[in-house]
Amino acid sequence: MFPSHPASLTRFMYDLMIIGGGPAGITAGIYAARQKLNTLLITKDFGGQVNNKAVAVENYPGFEKISGLELIQRFENHLKKQEIEIKIDEVAKIEKKTGNFLIITKNKQKIESRAVIVASGGDPRPLEVPGEKEFAGRGVSYCVLCDGPFFKDKPVAVIGGGNAGFEAAIFLSNIAKKIYILENSPQIRAFADNQEKIKKTGKTEIIINAALKEIKGDKFVKSIIYQDMITKELKTLEVKGIFVEIGTQPATSFVKDLVDFNERDEIKVDFETFQTKTPGLFAAGDVNLGKYKQIVTAAGEGAKAALAAYDYLQKLS
Ligand SMILES: Cc1cc2nc3c(=O)[nH]c(=O)nc-3n(C[C@H](O)[C@H](O)[C@H](O)COP(=O)(O)OP(=O)(O)OC[C@H]3O[C@@H](n4cnc5c(N)ncnc54)[C@H](O)[C@@H]3O)c2cc1C
Repeated sequence: MFPSHPASLTRFMYDLMIIGGGPAGITAGIYAARQKLNTLLITKDFGGQVNNKAVAVENYPGFEKISGLELIQRFENHLKKQEIEIKIDEVAKIEKKTGNFLIITKNKQKIESRAVIVASGGDPRPLEVPGEKEFAGRGVSYCVLCDGPFFKDKPVAVIGGGNAGFEAAIFLSNIAKKIYILENSPQIRAFADNQEKIKKTGKTEIIINAALKEIKGDKFVKSIIYQDMITKELKTLEVKGIFVEIGTQPATSFVKDLVDFNERDEIKVDFETFQTKTPGLFAAGDVNLGKYKQIVTAAGEGAKAALAAYDYLQKLS
């Protein structure tokens, strides 16, 4: 039996449902619409992680330097010129029933689709150390673009020595007095151009082999304690702000019964079609086990997943 028809949608049954409005989902939407699939894209927001980007994007072909917000606005405008339905909502669960997918949203809407592309990316990965939850919003931040300006002329720490951590520190170098970057491995993982930019700031100290142990303060953050992983010595840094940049955790709870995961909870896919272990269910972008998580790779995977979904649907009919 069909679920009750949500008033704002035009169909009981879609060919394809895309979950996510980041680079992967938007690109999948453009490709699906151009293949004339009856497509619904459901997303909590447009832009995904690109909305949190503090410095300009310099590695998306065709744009030597463009702000993340402008780039994603262009993606969104392009999508909205296509014949595609868009709904702002959160997917709570996907089930597969009698060959089709039943999608249940947070607003309790039920929608059916013949194929699904999961492009739900990830949310910031938490530190999981004492003091993190207590001081969230009181010195601990997961968005340097949103909260960085509160730390004018103050010492701050960025946790994570990857590209996101380095870019956060580059952004903060125009605001904060001193920036520490803590990395818990012996190597820095940020790209070479970001490493060069950090050197030029003149006020960033990189501490490798540093395992964060605790965040301390009273009303607001006052210091952090980390362990030198080589000497095992505990050290204290007096900082007013902590920016968490240790990567993302895939947003997959709504699909967990239909897919397999790797050890990082990323969805396993076949890299030719981006199909999961469930026929007709695809996963593109940061949500899958792909190693190089970038805007251009997410967009490329969105395109491939949409074309693979089209082939899958052609074989069904
Ligand atoms: C700080 C930072 C800087 C970066 N800088 C660069 C850079 O310079 N160049 C570059 O190429 N890459 C950069 N990246 C990486 C890039 O942003 C990601 O690889 C890319 O955004 C992944 O796209 P995505 O579509 O897979 O996922 P996301 O961008 O995470 O988008 C996921 C979408 O899914 C939606 N969603 C999630 N769960 C649900 C649900 N249950 N229901 C409905 N919707 C849902 C979200 O609202 C969001 O719209 C950066 C990342 C960060 C965090």
